[in-house]
Formats: sequence, C-alpha cells, structure tokens
Amino acid sequence: MGLISGIPLHTRLTLRYVLALGIVAALTLGSYWLMEDAVGTEVLGAKLLNVAGRQRMLCQRVEILARRAQNRAGPLRQAALAELDGTLRELVAGHDLLVHGPAEALGIGPDNPALAVLRQDADGGEALMHSFLQTAGALRAALLEEGDAGAARLQDLPRLSRTGDALLENLDRRMDELQRLGESTLRSLRGLILALSGATLAALALTGLGLFRPMVAEVVRDSEHLESLNRVLETQAGTDKLTGAYNRRTWDAEIGREFAKALRQKSRLCMVMTDLDHFKRVNDAHGHQRGDRVLQEFVQRLKLGVRVSDSVYRLGGEEFALLLSGTNIEQGRATAEKLRELVAGSPLAGGLAITASFGVAETDGRESPDEFFRRADQALYAAKAGGRNRVETEEKSA
Ligand code: GH3
Ligand code: MG
Ligand code: MG
Repeated sequence: MGLISGIPLHTRLTLRYVLALGIVAALTLGSYWLMEDAVGTEVLGAKLLNVAGRQRMLCQRVEILARRAQNRAGPLRQAALAELDGTLRELVAGHDLLVHGPAEALGIGPDNPALAVLRQDADGGEALMHSFLQTAGALRAALLEEGDAGAARLQDLPRLSRTGDALLENLDRRMDELQRLGESTLRSLRGLILALSGATLAALALTGLGLFRPMVAEVVRDSEHLESLNRVLETQAGTDKLTGAYNRRTWDAEIGREFAKALRQKSRLCMVMTDLDHFKRVNDAHGHQRGDRVLQEFVQRLKLGVRVSDSVYRLGGEEFALLLSGTNIEQGRATAEKLRELVAGSPLAGGLAITASFGVAETDGRESPDEFFRRADQALYAAKAGGRNRVETEEKSA
C-alpha cells in the first residue's frame, strides 16, 4: 500500500484499468480458444463421417460393378472392369488415409485422441481390406477369362459381399466410437466455456466492486479534497492575512450585494468607517511588529462588538469598515460608540493605550456605493477633525 500510494493517481488508475481489462481480455480469449476447439471437433467429426460414407459407397460400387461385369461381355465387360479398377484404387486410397495417413491429412494434430480411435484395430481393418481386395482381384481375374470360370464367379460374389460388409462394420465401429469421443469432447468443452463465461462475469463484477468502486471513491475523495482546498484558497484570497478581516476584494463584491439587498428589502444599511488614532506613532515608538499586533487586536475587538453576520473589512493600512445590514443611523451610531469604547476601554498589544475614530453613514440603497462610501469617509474625517476617539455621523442629503 505504501508503494502504491507513492504512485501518482492517474498512473494508479491507468494501471488498475489495464489490469481489469487484461483479466477480462484473457478470459474472453480463453473462451474463444475453447470455442475454436469445439468447432474443430465438429468439423473433424463431419470430415471423418464424410470419408467413412464415401468408403461405404465405394465398397457397394465395387460389388455393383462386379455384378455388371458378370452380366456383360466383350468391351462392355472391359469397361465395367476398368471402372472397377478405378473404384478399388479410390477405396484403397480412402482406407490408407483412415488407417495409415498422416494426421495432418485429416486436419488434426498427431496427439489428437481421435487419431487413436481411428487407428485402433488397424491390423483387423487391414486384414479385412486385404481380404476384400483379394476376393475382388480373384473375381476380376475370373471375369477376364471370358466364357468360362462361371462357377468361380458365382462363388466369389457372395464372398465379396460378406467381406465388404465386415469391412464396413469395422469402419462403422470406429466411426461410432469417434462420434462418442466427439460428443464427450464437446460436452466438456461446453462445460469449460460455461465456466469461463461465468468467470468473465465474475471478473466483471469483481472489477466493478474491487477496482472501479474504490477508484471512483478515490476520485471523489480527491476531488472533495481539491474542493476543500479551493474553498480554503478562496477564503484566503478574500481575507487579509494579518488581521483575518475581509479584504478589499471581498468588500467590492459585498458592497454591491448589500446595497441590492437593502433596496430589495426596503431596509437600512449602515457603514462604519474606522481608523486608529495616531497609529504612526505606535509604529515609530514600538516598531512595526508591535503595530501589527495592535492591528490584530483592534480587529478582534471590532468583531466582538458586532453581530456575527456583520463583517469587518480592511480597506487600507489601518483603515477598516463594517457593514451593518438592517441597521439605521441611530443603531449604527450606538454600535460605533460601543466599538469605540471597546478599543479605548483597555490597552492593546501589551499595554498600549490606543483609540480609534469612527464615521457612520446610513443608506437605503438609492445612491451609488461610491457616494455612500464618500459620506462615511467624510464622517470619519469629521471625527478626526473633532479631536479623535469619537463617533461622527453623516446624514444623507435629501
Ligand atoms: P491619524 O490619527 O490621523 O489617523 O494618524 P495616523 O498616524 O494613524 O495616520 P496615518 O495615515 O498618517 O498613518 C497610518 C500608519 O499606519 C502609517 C503606516 O505605517 C501604518 N500602517 C499601515 N499599514 C500597516 C501595517 O500593516 N502594519 C503596521 N504596523 N503599520 C501599518
Ligand atoms: Mg490612523
Ligand atoms: Mg489612516
């Protein structure tokens, strides 16, 4: 697991995907090979049955031609005998193929069990064929001697027929066995194909459960992680790192929203602008770091004095603003007064007595945000001019 977790996600997913596909592909290929085997067994059976059928036909044809030759004379008998010769040659060739021929000639491998069945009792088959050929040869020789040996002809014909029957029976026995072998091979192949198809389905199900489900879970987990990271980044982008107050970027977005809300709900919106008094002196006297701490504690006190829904924004160096929704100018002034007391009430950043000035303005949303801002800033300016550590309000001119 330790090794796996070191691999990048996309490589891990690709590996799993390839593995799952590989398993399914291997099982499918296996099924295909078994299918091929099954088809091969069927084809071989049909081929052998064809050869056997042809042997039967040739055997019977030898008998018919012998009888025809017997019943004719002169050139007609010669012709029948020539045809008999050809048929015997074909019969021998078929016999050789079945009993001695190379396995490839039958379209099978040398270790195919069908070959063993075909070649079993080869000697018996060979003897029967020999006997059949001998009888046919004797008959043929007798028929060549035109006009005599009639007795021999009559004697040999039934014998030829009996030997032929024995020969065919021998062939049939082997063919029956071959057919049984073929059927049992097909049965087991069918079983194997069924098992393999089951395994393929199981592999697909396992792939789904064991590979793709965790894979999807991992992707979802990763994307959730990414989303939460995004949220953190977004928050970071919208807040001031030093004080945790919202920054000007968020201010620009929020002021418009709050304005629209005030107008829509016909409610009042108050802006409180505040600026530390003589803050430059703090930096000069105690250093920038101490000044930073003052800014942090200043914001904490501002937050303490307002509702959670009222946000504090850092608009510039040590200049802050608050948006108080649903608040009129009197309530805004009271809040600002409370904030002023919270700041001036006790020392900041380890014993620094610091105050802040506040400017408050109210709007009903029927002016521009810039105008609203300008009025609050003006109130702050008035507070500074009025001696600092105080709250001033700016009424909207009619
Ligand atoms: P006034 O009462 O008129 O507001 O006087 P003031 O000295 O506070 O006003 P002024 O605007 O002249 O000075 C603001 C100072 O705030 C100057 C600047 O160095 C300091 N300042 C601005 N941002 C930061 C900050 O992030 N950290 C610190 N330590 N000081 C800052
Ligand atoms: Mg100042
Ligand atoms: Mg200032």
